[in-house]
Amino acid sequence: MAVERLQNFIGGSWIDSNASETVPVHNPASGELIGECPLSSEAEVDTAVQAAKQAFVEWRRVPVQDRIQPIFRLKGLLEQHAESLAATVTREHGKTLAESRGSVRRGIQMVEAATGAPAMMMGQALEDIARGIDCESIRQPLGVFACIAPFNFPAMVPLWFAPFAVACGNTFVCKPSEQVPFTQKLMWELIDEAGFPPGVLNLVNGGREVVNAFIDHPDIAGISFVGSSPVAEHVYKSAAAKLKRVQALGGAKNFIIVMPDAEMDFTAATISESAFGCAGERCLAAAVVLCVGGSHEKVRAGLIKHMNKIVVGDGSKEGVTMGPVISREHQQRVLAMIEEGIADGARLVVDGRDPGVPGDGYFVGPTLFDGVSEEMTIGRDEIFGPVLSMMQVETLDDALDICKRQPLANANSIFTTSGKAARTFRYEVPASMAGVNIGVAAPMSFFSFGGAKGSFLGDLKAHGREAYDFFTDRKVLISRW
Ligand code: NAD
Repeated sequence: MAVERLQNFIGGSWIDSNASETVPVHNPASGELIGECPLSSEAEVDTAVQAAKQAFVEWRRVPVQDRIQPIFRLKGLLEQHAESLAATVTREHGKTLAESRGSVRRGIQMVEAATGAPAMMMGQALEDIARGIDCESIRQPLGVFACIAPFNFPAMVPLWFAPFAVACGNTFVCKPSEQVPFTQKLMWELIDEAGFPPGVLNLVNGGREVVNAFIDHPDIAGISFVGSSPVAEHVYKSAAAKLKRVQALGGAKNFIIVMPDAEMDFTAATISESAFGCAGERCLAAAVVLCVGGSHEKVRAGLIKHMNKIVVGDGSKEGVTMGPVISREHQQRVLAMIEEGIADGARLVVDGRDPGVPGDGYFVGPTLFDGVSEEMTIGRDEIFGPVLSMMQVETLDDALDICKRQPLANANSIFTTSGKAARTFRYEVPASMAGVNIGVAAPMSFFSFGGAKGSFLGDLKAHGREAYDFFTDRKVLISRW
């Protein structure tokens, strides 16, 4: 069977990319080649941006209650096609069908939240700010926005931005991850069917050339980036130097603090789900458990018990609870980090190096290390795979000090039955997505999403109220008649 080559969607039409280079797309559960993603050029980015720029002229004049009508239709189409979207996510990314369904559901909730634009776009007014002078502040769209997505949530992440951007009257160009481009192909087919005017939403497939062309393009007003911290920093610094608005969501090394008074079985089950759900390829995944005082033995026993229940395999199959990692290269990287953990002196409590799944998939089993320190690579760097580390500390303050020393601060949680400990945690913890007795502290569409320190570069975070600030300018009009 011929391998499908992805197309771009520009100005309301599907267009072949003239790229000479492509990236192979594999099903990570089998290694099977399922497609080719073209590495589109700077010129193709320009064509998309020109289409978006032209569409902006009319789109910004469409009343907001009319702009949200295709967004409502898109919501209906996403519901109708939720199952095929989830199957596509599983096929190209590897996560289980249940996980893919959950991520599609989260994406749909973004579309729902964006239909609130008529209320959220409202400004403020005050008469007589001086005698006979009135003042009003209104929100206006800014033009063309671009989004750059990571591989780990192929359906959801572009929906963190696209519906809000266009509901505000902007137009949009999206670059999916070249490792998982098929879900956005299906998404854009639905966008096409929903009836947005040509050029309002465009899709350009590719890699870093597309990213750098976005950064350099004078007609792009702002960029939303989600991916690893080094690339987030590159995008943030270089796009800001080109005077663009930027929100750059980066990598993570998430801590979970367990107090001795926590409900241990619930805690261990929840941490296990946090660390090994989506094979650990979540920016909110638990990476390190900080066991305070006497909690250590109980947490470890509970984790081992719950990890033993995990069934590794092809995520499209019934009964499988953990799929492969994204690529052979990433599998090798995760395995190398496990070896480094052993060499550094950490104790390998559950060994996932050979999960025994037949075939050519990119599997790593759930892995648990104890006796990890902040200086070890596994205790310090993002692994982005199914590897969980345990550290033992004396007090809550010691645990919080470790969180504060870590340069990344995406999501941290505490498990406790003490209100005082929870309050101290909430007050002191540096990560700006924080959970109390929650394993994956994921803000929903009507709250804002994003970490702190090296995990988030910018001022305005993704979705929620902050989306309306990122995607609009607040113009103040002062008048005297
Ligand atoms: P990545 O940084 O490798 O790639 C992200 C995007 O940047 C892709 O579209 C890719 O094409 C592009 N890119 C890659 N290298 C580039 C370069 N040198 N120059 C310009 N563009 C480049 O990230 P990934 O491996 O796709 O995703 C995993 C990472 O994303 C993890 O670090 C994870 O923590 C992070 N992530 C963060 C969040 C969050 O909300 N903070 C959410 C999801 C994923």
